[in-house]
Amino acid sequence: IMTTSTSDISRKKSAELFEKAKAYFPGGVNSPVRAFKSVYGTPLFIERGDKAHLWDADGNEFIDYCCSWGPLILGHNNEEIREAVQAQLGKGLSFGAPTALENQLAELILNNNKKIEKIRFVSSGTEAVMSAIRLARGYTKRDKIVKFEGCYHGHSDSLLVKAGSGLVTFGETSSAGVPQAFADETIVIALNDKKALEQVFADFPGQIAAVIIEGVPANNGLLIQDKDYIHFLRDITKTNGSLLIFDEVITGFRLGFEGASKYYDIQPDILTYGKIIGGGMPVGAYGASHEIMGSISPDGAVYQAGTLSGNPVAMAAGIAALSILARPGFYEGLEKTTQAFVEELRAYIAEKNYELNISTIGSIFWFAFSSNANIQRADEIDPTSMEKYKVMHRELLNRGIYFGPSGYEVGFISAAHTEEDLKTTLTAIKAALDLVF
Ligand code: PLP
Repeated sequence: IMTTSTSDISRKKSAELFEKAKAYFPGGVNSPVRAFKSVYGTPLFIERGDKAHLWDADGNEFIDYCCSWGPLILGHNNEEIREAVQAQLGKGLSFGAPTALENQLAELILNNNKKIEKIRFVSSGTEAVMSAIRLARGYTKRDKIVKFEGCYHGHSDSLLVKAGSGLVTFGETSSAGVPQAFADETIVIALNDKKALEQVFADFPGQIAAVIIEGVPANNGLLIQDKDYIHFLRDITKTNGSLLIFDEVITGFRLGFEGASKYYDIQPDILTYGKIIGGGMPVGAYGASHEIMGSISPDGAVYQAGTLSGNPVAMAAGIAALSILARPGFYEGLEKTTQAFVEELRAYIAEKNYELNISTIGSIFWFAFSSNANIQRADEIDPTSMEKYKVMHRELLNRGIYFGPSGYEVGFISAAHTEEDLKTTLTAIKAALDLVF
């Protein structure tokens, strides 16, 4: 494979900043995938974003499909979110006390999402999921949890086992530093496999507090599960007195207000959210029925707290964002745009007979460098296909298109992507694919 057909963009300033950063942070970054370990070149240091566009320290401009890993469904520097944040800045950054803003964001969520009756705000997706696991254990008085190979649920101890992109990208499947005793309480099985589910309930009767799954697994490629399988999962957890936790940190408010739960038409027991509900500020949340949420402190015995939980600036950003998303036709429009984009790519791939499939749901898409058009499990991804992604990624950056720096990551389309942005991107992707194949 040729490595690039274009001249490489300048990364001089980014390289200087990265050298400095390496003295300050492990690997020069504050989150591992940002280090560009599995793609070409030095990581780009970003200076600013506006709508669907990003500018780096060297002045290179990109059309952004990473969108901060999902939160920016309205693009960068959205006017309504910015104004809401600015209005709050003059009133205070944090009080550690209740505010009306928390009620407002909760109302917006609960009025439009009937999958939960009560919610608790935290500051990240990791916290949301970690708390949901504790809640499930406290509520059921059981210890074991079941997760799926390739699903990422944040970086808490119990969940860093066979956990998707951030780890797979570095050739590991689980993290060091997780005590064996914790890992022993986490059972990992393959996705989309009914027999594996039956086996796990047969092996650990009465011991499984919860099964946790990503609404649509999107951290190890985009692994869209069969509806029939998700209903089977719902039924078998209920029959065995285990809770079903739907981690909708990516899919929540991305596929619609009721996320993947609505797509699959199921009622999970506990749901976790993050990313989009903060409008780009740090927020997470978990929710469930009144009854299950009654186990949370101070009403119940499951403790969970946070100095910055329900942070007023983050709440203001979330309220502004969700108010826009709640407008009629928002999701339909975004999905239509994404479908047209993916269809054009698929037509090109078919015409050229390239060994590549594009999986898509809502406004999420993923390049599966495989002849398998329906990859549903982590072990169906050929790790050597990541070499192709690497070539494509470099070429796309050179052509002004920014995707996440790992082939296991999905792309996101935002409402800020214009027709012109998408057209420019399609031309660039086609050229990049011609180079790859
Ligand atoms: N759950 C899912 C499905 C995620 O994709 C992520 C992050 O990408 C998390 C949890 C963790 O969220 P955070 O990075 O905000 O801690």
